[in-house]
Amino acid sequence: MDGKSSSETRGKPIRCRAAVCRKPGEPLVIEEIMVAPPMAREVRIRVICTSLCQSDITFWKLKDFPAIFPRILGHEAIGVVESVGEDVDEVTEGDTVIPIFLSDCGECGDCNSKKSNLCSKFPFKVSPWMPRYETSRFTDLKGEVLYHFLSVSSFTEYTVVDIAHVTKIDSSIPPNRACLLSCGVSTGFGAAWRTANVETGSTVAIFGLGSIGLAVAEGARLCGATKIIGVDVNPNKFEIGKKFGVTDFVNAGDCGNKSVTQMVNEITGGGADYCFECVGLPSLVQEAYACCRKGWGKAIVLGVAKPGSQVNLSSYDVLHSGKTLMGSLFGGLKAKTDIPILIKRYLDKELQLDKFVTHEVKFDDINKAFDLLIEGQSLRCVIWMDK
Ligand SMILES: [Zn+2]
Ligand SMILES: [Zn+2]
Repeated sequence: MDGKSSSETRGKPIRCRAAVCRKPGEPLVIEEIMVAPPMAREVRIRVICTSLCQSDITFWKLKDFPAIFPRILGHEAIGVVESVGEDVDEVTEGDTVIPIFLSDCGECGDCNSKKSNLCSKFPFKVSPWMPRYETSRFTDLKGEVLYHFLSVSSFTEYTVVDIAHVTKIDSSIPPNRACLLSCGVSTGFGAAWRTANVETGSTVAIFGLGSIGLAVAEGARLCGATKIIGVDVNPNKFEIGKKFGVTDFVNAGDCGNKSVTQMVNEITGGGADYCFECVGLPSLVQEAYACCRKGWGKAIVLGVAKPGSQVNLSSYDVLHSGKTLMGSLFGGLKAKTDIPILIKRYLDKELQLDKFVTHEVKFDDINKAFDLLIEGQSLRCVIWMDK
């Protein structure tokens, strides 16, 4: 459904179209569903557009828990507030908002600390429910429950999101750019800007030049890094990387008789100031740590590794190298304060979101967006709900 005013729908269930993931690895099914009104501290949002992130693919393919079906995937989006539940005063009907998978409750010790973006009231988890009540707002037309995903579930014309996961934004930014800030680009950009705090003149090495790695490059470029080294096994990534500020390329699959560490050491004169692991491989975390400059180098982990994976580091090296190893969830960003800054930087023509959008499709073609990302053809494919 489209174009109805909030006065007609407020407080009532909405019947609309959603792309439901019924079975792992099978094409999403566009069907009509019911979306319940928001409960207290929740917001019902009409999704304008959504984009596809690698984690959607991971949970689309995964057969075992925390995968669960039928589920509405999608977690990069922008929308307009259709109605709000009780005790919501932060946003109102008609506001433009971005839902974010990471909570920013504004009440807990972590949300009130400058040192953390890891909310302890609604800690990150891949839950099938709304975070505050552990229930679903979605049912199919037979009355069967449809599960939520990452507190967002954006592959539907309407969704319900907890206010702790909603950021109000300036509506002048084009929606097919703003939706990227919901996850991937913010994660990479934030890792360089907030987590690492890359300084002017510093050297950076990025392991894995997918969307996240390219967003790290964009962040490092805007922070004034002078050398940005892309490390990848696919040499075609260097040409793409150049567009995002990558200055040097190390082909991890073909370094001749040298190791990646030796290559990075040579380019930087003793190790990079900041190394970012963007793939999710323990061996690459070790390599990123090894490539850091002794004394002050920081290795930042962004990649999502398989559950149970372990990183091996020599205690002797940890003691004698003086390096730092850090994790960065959502780029260390606090959604409600940092996303509006990123939007301003886009509107000021600094942050180049446009280059990340390689494809746009209408909602009916959502499965094509999956094919493009799986085949490695797209960085970000925007899915328009009303086209
Ligand atoms: Zn919190
Ligand atoms: Zn994501």
